[in-house]
Amino acid sequence: MEVRGIKDRMTEIKAIRGFNDILPGEIGKWQFVENTAREVFEGFGFSEIRIPILERTELFARGIGEATDIVEKEMYTFTDRSGNSLTLRPEATASMARAYLEHQLHSFDPVAKLYCIGPMFRYERPQKGRYRQFYQIDAEVFGVDNPMVDAEVIHMLIHFLRRVGLERLELQINSLGCRECRPRYREELKGFLTKRSFRLCEDCQRRLETNPLRILDCKVESCQEAIAGAPKVTDYICEQCRKHFDRVKEYLAMAGLSFILNPRMVRGLDYYTRTAFEVISYQLGSQNAVTGGGRYDNLFQEIGGLDIPGIGFAVGMERLVSLLPAGKGFVQNPSLFVAALGDEALKEAYRIVSQLHLEGIRAELDYEGKSLKSQMRRADKLKARYVLIFGEEEFKRGRAVLRNMETKSQEEIPLQGVLNTLKKRIIGD
Ligand code: ATP
Ligand code: MG
Repeated sequence: MEVRGIKDRMTEIKAIRGFNDILPGEIGKWQFVENTAREVFEGFGFSEIRIPILERTELFARGIGEATDIVEKEMYTFTDRSGNSLTLRPEATASMARAYLEHQLHSFDPVAKLYCIGPMFRYERPQKGRYRQFYQIDAEVFGVDNPMVDAEVIHMLIHFLRRVGLERLELQINSLGCRECRPRYREELKGFLTKRSFRLCEDCQRRLETNPLRILDCKVESCQEAIAGAPKVTDYICEQCRKHFDRVKEYLAMAGLSFILNPRMVRGLDYYTRTAFEVISYQLGSQNAVTGGGRYDNLFQEIGGLDIPGIGFAVGMERLVSLLPAGKGFVQNPSLFVAALGDEALKEAYRIVSQLHLEGIRAELDYEGKSLKSQMRRADKLKARYVLIFGEEEFKRGRAVLRNMETKSQEEIPLQGVLNTLKKRIIGD
């Protein structure tokens, strides 16, 4: 028997590493964050879009860029039964841009403000704050290159994070230049880093050729040392990009937002141009970016050949949720638990509970009709606000006891009109 028990346990199926369950005890925080996002974004004129989780691999390879971490080593790519190469989406922007083009949303209005909430998949080393399936809230504006929109998007993001209750946030911004001016900076940086290449990690040695800007973002200590004193991108941007950046700063100031200029912040993806931003929380450890985003005026060219500008951000839900204060208000407890003893009382309890459910009041009972003591223990464990107790003797008299579990006070109430009495107590206070 013993041996079989162990064997059975060994065959228990577990979730895949880096893939999490979000349990009822935590879900309240997730729902709160999602509801707040919807409320804030809709208020800023954004509409939700839902896009598939699977796309053709080519969309990400072209959209995100071959020389990025995501495409090089983080994608879940497989061949389906018809021989197509498909990829579980590692981010939402490329898919949203594809949908905008595919359904010609631009023919209705060139400006599209869209948001999307859902899971993303990246094959990374799982650790705290870094998972293989994780959730993002994405917002994007397609079709406007005016710096006013950059400020508006950042303003919405900060407003959302504050509404969620985050404090000690730092907004960092940078300009990455454009197709015209970035190549010059790229060469300048490459020259600087080549002289220090012996200090770079293996990945960055390779990045020197493929994506030198990405080295600025490397978290390896020796690479961080190597980039000290590196040329700053903002010293190389063209007149147009400088003007754009100045206006962004001006509009941010108009919105009352303070920011820090971080010329080292480059963001991981190829498609970014001009404005890039990140919001850092000092409550998080090394995985400290809650959210990042930027402008990408070349993405559409890559995936559809049209010259459409875009700007947006992605918020990591796991990291955001981990910053919310524990407890209060996030767990749903029953408003009422009906403890009933005996068949007749249990039937009446069932009638009451089903009526309350129709009114949207969270009510529970014990289906097995166990002893009153064990039912009370359960009501306590579930943290019910009230318990309605049908003792046999009171029930015969057409009465029940209503106990307020917070104040521990109780009162006897008649079964006649019990629903109204309960609603008054539960909703009324
Ligand atoms: P990092 O530098 O931490 O790898 P990133 O630049 O890859 O982040 P983005 O692609 O910009 O991140 O995604 C935006 C947000 O999504 C991040 O700021 C983070 O909160 C979250 N995020 C990214 N990768 C993961 C992951 N593997 N697990 C959990 N959250 C993630
Ligand atoms: Mg990453």
